[in-house]
Order: sequence, then C-alpha cells, then structure tokens
Amino acid sequence: MSTQYQVINPATEEIVTTIEHFDVAHTDAAIDRAAKAFESWRNVAPGDRARLLRAFASKVSEHREELANLEIANSGHTRGNALWEADNVANVLNYYSATPERLFGRQIPVPGGVDFTFKEPLGVIGIIVPWNFPMPIAGWGFGPALAAGNTVVLKPAELTPLTAIRLGELALEAGLPKDVFQVLPGKGSIVGERFVTHPAVRKIVFTGSTEVGKHIMVGCADQVKRLTLELGGKSANVIFADADLEKAAAAAPGSVFDNAGQDCCARSRILVQRSVFDRFMSLFETSVKAFRVEDPNLESSEMGPLISAKQFEAVSSYLGSNVAFSGSKPEGKGYWMAPTVVTPKDTSDRAWREEIFGPIVAVLPFEDEADAIRLANDSEYGLSGSIWTRDVGRAFRVARGIDTGNLSVNSHSSVRFWTPFGGFKQSGLGRELGPDAPDAFTEVKNIFIATTE
Ligand code: NAD
Repeated sequence: MSTQYQVINPATEEIVTTIEHFDVAHTDAAIDRAAKAFESWRNVAPGDRARLLRAFASKVSEHREELANLEIANSGHTRGNALWEADNVANVLNYYSATPERLFGRQIPVPGGVDFTFKEPLGVIGIIVPWNFPMPIAGWGFGPALAAGNTVVLKPAELTPLTAIRLGELALEAGLPKDVFQVLPGKGSIVGERFVTHPAVRKIVFTGSTEVGKHIMVGCADQVKRLTLELGGKSANVIFADADLEKAAAAAPGSVFDNAGQDCCARSRILVQRSVFDRFMSLFETSVKAFRVEDPNLESSEMGPLISAKQFEAVSSYLGSNVAFSGSKPEGKGYWMAPTVVTPKDTSDRAWREEIFGPIVAVLPFEDEADAIRLANDSEYGLSGSIWTRDVGRAFRVARGIDTGNLSVNSHSSVRFWTPFGGFKQSGLGRELGPDAPDAFTEVKNIFIATTE
C-alpha cells in the first residue's frame, strides 16, 4: 500500500481518519486471492452458503448504529437515511440468502436424450461504488454476487470508504471464508482500472457517472468482460392538474433534495400542468422552506451537506438569475447548500438538461398528456420518475410512455430490493436487485446426455 488518504466529514470539514490506498501490486494480489477463494466458495453446499449470508446479514443488523454513525461522519447522511442504508444491506443479504438453495436450472425436452441447464458462477466480480450511497450500492452488488457463488473485490469511492471497510470486516466476523469478500479502498484510475484490465475479474458492476461508465464499457470490450452499469439520471416528476396537489407538493422536496440531491433517482425536473402551475409553485414554496437542512446527527434532519468542496463548486455553477425560491441551510463550516428551485427559460437551460447531483430542482409547465411524455423523454437519461394523477388510465398511459427504468405513481419510491432497478438509454445497462439479480452473476451452461442405445 502506498498512499495515505484523509477522510473528511463534509458537515464539519474535519478529518475523520486516514486510510491506506491500494496500489496495483496489492490489487493484483487481492484479485489472485479472490480467484483462489472462488474454487472453494463455489463448492460450498448451497445450504451452508445461505447460512453464511444470513449470518452476515445478522452481523450488519447488530452493527447498524455503528455503520450509520460511520456514514453520518463520512458522508453527511442524515441519521434516518444512514440507518435505512445499513438495514438495506442486511435486508439485501437476507433476501439473496434464499438464492443458493433455489438457483434452479431447467430440464428441456429434446430428442435422443436429456437436456438440462446449470447457472454457473462467473468467478471474481469487481464492484466499483460511487460516494453517494456507499452502503446500499455496494450491497446490491455483493449480495446477489456472493449468493450465486462468486467471490467479490469491492472498491469504494475515494471520498467514502469507511462503511465498506467495516462491512468487509463484518463479513469475516460472520464466518465468510477469507478472501471471498475483500474491500480495496483506492483510486478509480488505479484499483478500478485494474478490475477492468485484470483477466481474472470476470464481471464489473459499476455505479457512477455516465462518463466513467462509458470508459469502463470500452475497457471491458477487450476481454468481453460482463458488465452492469448504473449511471446518471435526470428524472421527471410529472404533476397533472387532477392530482392531489397538496400531497404532490409536500412530497416533491424529499424526491429531489433527499441526500442533498446526490441521488441518481432524484426527480430533478418537475413538470406541472399549466393550469395548476401557480398553485403548485405556491404550495411547493411552503414545503421547500419547511425542509429541514441541519446537522445530520439530529433525528429531525431531512438533508445534510454536499459531499465535498468540489461538489459544492460544481453544483453552485447551476445557480443564477433563474432562482425562483430556496430553503434554508446552517451557517459555518461544511459544504452546505440550501435546497433551491429554478425556473429555466426553456428546455435548453443546462439546469434542465444536465444531472446536477445537488439540491437544485428545475420546474417547467406542460400543456397536455402528450406534451408531458414528450418533455419527460427529452433527455439522454432514463432512470426513474414519478407521475401524480387521480386518473388510473392516464397513470398507466403515461407510465408506459416514459422511457425510464423505474416509475412510481402518486409516490416517489424507486429502489426496493424486491424489484428490478436500472436505467434506459444512457442511465445504464442491465438491472440490479429483484428476483432475477443472481442470474446476472451466472452463465447458463447447457448439458445434453444421450440416452439412445
Ligand atoms: P464517478 O464515476 O466519478 O466514480 C464512481 C466510481 O468509479 C468511484 O469509485 C471511482 O473511484 C471509480 N472510478 C473513477 N474513474 C475510474 C476508472 N477510470 N476506472 C474504474 N473506476 C473508476 O462517480 P461519482 O462522482 O462517485 O458518483 C456520482 C455519479 O454516480 C452520478 O453521475 C450518479 O448519477 C451516479 N450514480 C448512479 C446510480 C445508479 O444506480 N444509476 C447510483 C448512484 C450514483
């Protein structure tokens, strides 16, 4: 290990701790160990693998407060969110602990013999995680990957390594064999790149920016390496005149300002039917001003700081004469930004088109259903979105019309571990979570046995 890295608390700008970064030689050694561990992990009896995953889930649950406190200090996540995130890891592990004993193949009728399929694990899986949701995004990869019989090397984001490191320790404490799940803090350009180029890593699970995702996709082509991409978003929150406007306005701040807007599913474009635009904006102003931006340690906190000074600067560049109104923020140290609502001149405004990844939402009016679908689809992204209406037929028509991976009607839910999650267009490739996620960590093998004499 060569370089030291200082982890900063974004709410106070204080140093939390210093960690060691992996270099290429140590990354290679870890991948080699993971490849060796794969040979025995894949042969662990299904019931035993299930038991170990449940033990890992229990360890995470026992340490939920500790993990949440680490995330609050490292990432500025609110206490409510951080506890949910730790629980999400445990829930995902429990959900996929059912996989080893149910990784069924098929028996296919053919002439002259018996034909059946196996779902074989791939080998070493390289998981590359961004800084916005360090715990859940890691778990969505390693839960189903381990369950399907793979070993995992996981690289947390430079800014937010602490919960991942602790999860690696808890896996060992739970009894997972050594080297089955390893956490390698380090730079994307060193550890992440090596996952892509090392031939023993058979699949990359990448969540992060569309730009880096494209670069990784090119790299994976060289070895025809399997790849899942979860990338950016610019999701639409479409509010029709017949909606419960009070409810829609009360829910809208959480849908975009949660995690200070650093959420790939953030509904950062609000489309409001013109006839109720003014009424919605007035209700929305009240709810934005009531949104509690404060010390993330407080149970009442609804939004913490941005992750870094660099992110603060990037997000600030979207603010100008377009600001309609904003909420509040604490004074003093930390990368705090008030939740802000902008009304762009038209759809060419970069605040309307680009993923801001901060607490800024752009609002525009639309005329009718067709116009709403057209505007919602006028984006290279397609990850998430919401529709507010009391007309169930319209809800279905619009939901089918919007090119996006995850939609919710009269709510803002996106990610449930029971259901598939992923993006259309440049928001990604493949799906995570849901009942089929383990399939993405296996290859189908077909075997034919002749029975003719
Ligand atoms: P990023 O792309 O800069 O970094 C993501 C990860 O990739 C980090 O661990 C980083 O170290 C690593 N990385 C960077 N360069 C690399 C390289 N050349 N090779 C291999 N790995 C490399 O993204 P970020 O700034 O950490 O995260 C924010 C982005 O993530 C946003 O665009 C957001 O939309 C996206 N995101 C998407 C989802 C989703 O599920 N679709 C979820 C969360 C975040």
